[in-house]
Amino acid sequence: MSAMLSPMLQIGGLWKAFAGFVATRDVSFDLAVGQTHAIIGPNGAGKTTFFNLITGHLRPDRGSVSFEGRDLVGLPPQKIVRLGIARSFQRINVYPRLTVFENVQVALIAHEHQQWNLWRPGRSLYRAGTQELLDLVGLAAEAVEIAGELSYGKQKQLELAIALASQPRLLLLDEPTAGMSPQETAATIASVRDIVKARGLTLLFTEHDMAVVFGIAERISVLHHGEIIASGEPDAVRNDPEVRRVYLGEGGGHGWGGHGQ
Ligand code: ADP
Ligand code: MG
Repeated sequence: MSAMLSPMLQIGGLWKAFAGFVATRDVSFDLAVGQTHAIIGPNGAGKTTFFNLITGHLRPDRGSVSFEGRDLVGLPPQKIVRLGIARSFQRINVYPRLTVFENVQVALIAHEHQQWNLWRPGRSLYRAGTQELLDLVGLAAEAVEIAGELSYGKQKQLELAIALASQPRLLLLDEPTAGMSPQETAATIASVRDIVKARGLTLLFTEHDMAVVFGIAERISVLHHGEIIASGEPDAVRNDPEVRRVYLGEGGGHGWGGHGQ
C-alpha cells in the first residue's frame, strides 16, 4: 500500500559545492511515479549539477537521493542506470563513427549483457529490439546512416534511443531541445511525449524553452542559485511572484516563451 503512495524519487537536503561555490543548496524534492516534471531556471542555476547528483556523476556533499526506496548516494552511474534511471546529456553523446543502428544495438547489448548475462540466449544481436527503439524515436529511415553525420536534432533522437535501451522507469532529459530549430523542437517534444506515454515512464527534464515546459510538464520546479524557489503545478509556478522576478527581472533573455541560451 504505502509503496504506491511513496514517491519514485525522493531527495532530501541535497548540497553540492565546487571549491566553495554552492551549486546545489539544500534541495529537497519528490517525484511521483508517472509524472512529467520540469526543472527550470536560468543558466548556471544548477540544473545539470542536480541531474549529475541523481545519476551518480557527482557525489553530494550532504543529503539523500532515494529511488524506489533505495539510497543512490555513492553508487556509480552504471549501477544507477541498471536500477532504472536513464538520462541524456546536454551535449551530444553518441558514437559518431558507428551507424545509427549500431549505436542503439551496442547500447542494448551492453545493457542486456550486464543484466542477464547467464540467462539470455547467447547469439541474439538484439536486432529486433534495436529496430523497435529506432521506430519508437522516429529514426527507422536513418538506420544505416553514420551517427556523426546526422542533423543535430536526429542525433538527439538517437541519444534518446540509446537512453531507452537500458529500459528505464525514470528518464532524465537535460535540455532535450537545446540547439534545435523550432521544427525539430516540436517533433522532439511530440516524440518524447509519445514515448513517455507508450512506455509508462516517469520524466524529469530541464528545458529553457518555456513553450515546451508549459506544453508538457505536469509539475514544475524552479531552481535559482542552486535553490528550489518554487515547485508545483504549472499555473501556480507561472504566477509565483519570486519566479516572475527571477525570470523577468534578471538577464532579460529568459522570458516565458523565449529561447534562452
Ligand atoms: P545549469 O545546468 O542550470 O546551467 P550547472 O549545474 O551546469 O547549471 O552549473 C551550476 C553552477 O555550478 C555554475 O555556476 C557552474 O559554473 C558551476 N559548476 C558546475 N559544474 C562544475 C564543476 N564541475 N566545477 C566547478 N563548477 C561547476
Ligand atoms: Mg545545464
